[in-house]
Amino acid sequence: MPDASGLPPTPPRRDRLGVPADMPSLMIAGPGEVHDETLEVFGRQMIAHYGDIWTDVHRRTVAMVGELLGASDLPYVIPGTGTTCLDAALFNVFEAGQKVVVANTGFFGIRLMEMARQHRLELHEVPVDVGAPIDPDAIRDAARGADGVLSVHVETATGVRHPIEDIASAAHEAGAVYMVDGIASVGGELVNVDRMGIDVLVTGTQKGLEAPPGLGILALGPGGRERVKSRTQAPQSWYLDLEVWDWYRREWGAWHPHPVTMPTNLVLALFTSMQRILDMGVDTVVGSRADLAKKCREGLRNLGLEPVPHAGAEANLVVAAWADDPATIQKHLLDKGIMISGGLTPTHGKAIRVGLMGATATDEMVDRVLEGVAEAVS
Ligand SMILES: *Cc1c(COP(=O)(O)O)cnc(C)c1O
Repeated sequence: MPDASGLPPTPPRRDRLGVPADMPSLMIAGPGEVHDETLEVFGRQMIAHYGDIWTDVHRRTVAMVGELLGASDLPYVIPGTGTTCLDAALFNVFEAGQKVVVANTGFFGIRLMEMARQHRLELHEVPVDVGAPIDPDAIRDAARGADGVLSVHVETATGVRHPIEDIASAAHEAGAVYMVDGIASVGGELVNVDRMGIDVLVTGTQKGLEAPPGLGILALGPGGRERVKSRTQAPQSWYLDLEVWDWYRREWGAWHPHPVTMPTNLVLALFTSMQRILDMGVDTVVGSRADLAKKCREGLRNLGLEPVPHAGAEANLVVAAWADDPATIQKHLLDKGIMISGGLTPTHGKAIRVGLMGATATDEMVDRVLEGVAEAVS
């Protein structure tokens, strides 16, 4: 777009990798930008992924993750992404032919259904209205005789937060274990594996945990641990067999507490965000993110963009609002140096989504987004 001088813009300068020097600020539905102290450790020289120093850093990082998740069973931190640990969860907690109930909440609920099918599980789908939270009664009815219930905590496609504590109770009443995809919730919503009765919780590092992508996190509650122990056969993956990870933690714990080379810089980066979140206090972090999400949501509503989630079910890390012409809004913001997301099934082409993750989750950035949306819709 020509500037005030009427001259065409100068082409963006690129670094030697071909990446423009001024990439847009990320207000997308993940990843978020990372804080300076995280960036600093991420750019450090490699260190060995074994030995006393490493073992100590790794142990403290995993302990902090466990504290954040409210999981007394020490979580697994596995190279890959959040989805790596969704696969790991399905490999370890279920066996082919078992029956699972999956809530179809949108794009990532559908992803869980695809994964369940690929793991040769018998799938029972529970439909969920767009914008509505999952109905725990529907889960209870569907889960009779099932081995497991699977759902997202926050559906990133709609910005809806689902009532995981009630779903856990419903699953347990029916005799099933409950597996939660918390990739878009942990760090921005209250999650407590032990207290909420979650049997398996999966998350990643690049959304609410404000670290780069590249690690998956998996925590087991007592019900999940029981399933892992009582399997009749080893999972069809060595890399993702949790008992392999347990063995290394136990037998090699003093110098190399994991079966593979850990991406040490990613773990160090995660260490910094765990410290920051725990120092501030999870309740404070979640509360301030809820306030920011409310400001963003109400600002958009004042501009005529109604929230996708029903009242009371709005998530904190991603704000989704209906829009007549999302592409024009996205393009206008991009011209101002801010990248937001469009919709995903069932909001594809019909909504915008603003991510409130990491270093750009600030009042100032939300003001800039609202300003840009106002210009685009006027
Ligand atoms: C982002 C996201 C995923 C995918 O996570 P990866 O880290 O890319 O594997 C899965 N589920 C939800 C709810 C997400 O928001």
